[in-house]
Amino acid sequence: MRKISLSLLLLFCFTLFAQEDYPKDAFAPPMDIPIILAGTFGELRSNHFHSGVDIKTQQREGVPVNSIGDGTITRIKVSLWGYGKVLYIAHPNGYTSVYGHLQKFSPSIEAYIKKLQYNKKSFEVEVFPDYGELKVSKGELIAYSGNTGGSAGPHLHFEIRSSISEKPTNPLLYGMDVADATNPILEKLFVYPLTDKSHVNNNYERTQVNFSKQNDGTYLADKVTALGEIGIGFIGFDRLDMAANKNGVYSVELSVNGKTYSLYDFESFSFGETRYINTLVDYEYYGRNRQRIQKSFKSAGNNLSIYKELYNNGKIDINEGLSYTAKLLIKDYAGNKVELNIPVDGVKNLLGNKKEKKTTDNYVIAKKPNNFDLGGAKVYFPTNTFYEDFYIELKKGKDTVTIHNNTVPAHRNFTITFDVSKYSKEVQKQLFIARLDSKLRPNHANTYKRGNEFTTRTRNLGTYTLARDTVAPTIRTKNFKEKQWLNNYKYLSVQIADDLSGVDTYSATLNGEWILMEYEPKRNTLTYNFDDKIADQTQCVLKVTVTDNVGNTNTLTTSFYRK
Ligand SMILES: [Zn+2]
Repeated sequence: MRKISLSLLLLFCFTLFAQEDYPKDAFAPPMDIPIILAGTFGELRSNHFHSGVDIKTQQREGVPVNSIGDGTITRIKVSLWGYGKVLYIAHPNGYTSVYGHLQKFSPSIEAYIKKLQYNKKSFEVEVFPDYGELKVSKGELIAYSGNTGGSAGPHLHFEIRSSISEKPTNPLLYGMDVADATNPILEKLFVYPLTDKSHVNNNYERTQVNFSKQNDGTYLADKVTALGEIGIGFIGFDRLDMAANKNGVYSVELSVNGKTYSLYDFESFSFGETRYINTLVDYEYYGRNRQRIQKSFKSAGNNLSIYKELYNNGKIDINEGLSYTAKLLIKDYAGNKVELNIPVDGVKNLLGNKKEKKTTDNYVIAKKPNNFDLGGAKVYFPTNTFYEDFYIELKKGKDTVTIHNNTVPAHRNFTITFDVSKYSKEVQKQLFIARLDSKLRPNHANTYKRGNEFTTRTRNLGTYTLARDTVAPTIRTKNFKEKQWLNNYKYLSVQIADDLSGVDTYSATLNGEWILMEYEPKRNTLTYNFDDKIADQTQCVLKVTVTDNVGNTNTLTTSFYRK
């Protein structure tokens, strides 16, 4: 009996307090250039935490990428979006390394993937090689860095995951050498009244508080008066040596009069929870200002596992006549820190009652499904689409639906359905649902057409409209002209674009044979590599067909010569 409870206690202690033992010397760096980060693990991104580190590649592509350890390639994917060209290597010690946005793979892996692409007649492919089929050793060249997929500039996206749980872990835990003697930077401080009865500086809303640097290097906030339950939030970032990039911080601790109220860090998280980032940041503020306030308290719907310590959900109870010192301690992975002290006095508020919240005709209850018929359009929110109940603004215009605005996060997909019965079948073919972006430009949303009902699934609130695309995509040669001799050309490139609904599919042939043309949506370019040696003839006829998202199709047929 005693034995059991002791081991249970040990297990309990281990799960709560012990940081996993990460192998510090097992891995080599993924690149030979100095490791400078443009992005850290856990960094706050749109609807997710960054699941790796972004390694700067000297503003260029083609920097050799090496396997960090002996292992076997378990997954290779070529995608237009997301990680672009990406490689996964499982190592015998239980970790999997991931290398994303690659320009191309090493010659042997490139040949393996090319074969698959030609078999499937598709640029986008994904393959899970058998264990041991594609072995690599520590330091072996596996690829070249690039800018493919959802990447805004050349860099290597690098991850280390647990092979079993697939949870990404902070790559810096493995002893990666990154120069960082620079402290995190605190930009703004906010104090939140968290109940109807609480106030901050005689204010019922989120209140910004100024702070200044002290002689000892810490920061001191202006004195705050408050009553009731309050919370703290901040805008800040980390800067590493030798780079101007605003990276994410590693840990955030809030303590009050010496007691820790909340402590979270970015040792690890799961992909299943990453979208809960929208409860960690002040989403309303982000929607309006495009800047992320990190809350050091846990608000409704927050299911994140990143908290190492939590007391009263990080919320502070302020009583009349008492004084408090809240301390915010923000650290980067190297331990550089910024410390901010916030003096709070419990003072009765001098205002009258809190003014009523703005109401609308429609109220959403987060824990229930909610269905709204707007006449000509319907909106359906499944259970737990939202974190909190709220008054939702729903407006129906001519072929448009406005679903509140971008200050409220949705956790799950909801559906918007338009009745298109007033349009002829011919017109319906060219119609699609589009979301209007902040500049009111229509962005194609995947549209499911069933009879007279067009539906889209989305997690973005905002304005949706029916749009009509009558124009086929454009296709033109890029690095050559018709009937030109292309003797020393390495590549053939073609420019494709679609004005409204966007490019959906494309294909190309040389003298009737399918060729692999790599599509780079960021540059609207299709590229064929002459090394593929398809139709090695003097006279070549190139045929490229492109279809947009409503089915408008265009074909370019052109010829060139080659010796
Ligand atoms: Zn990245």
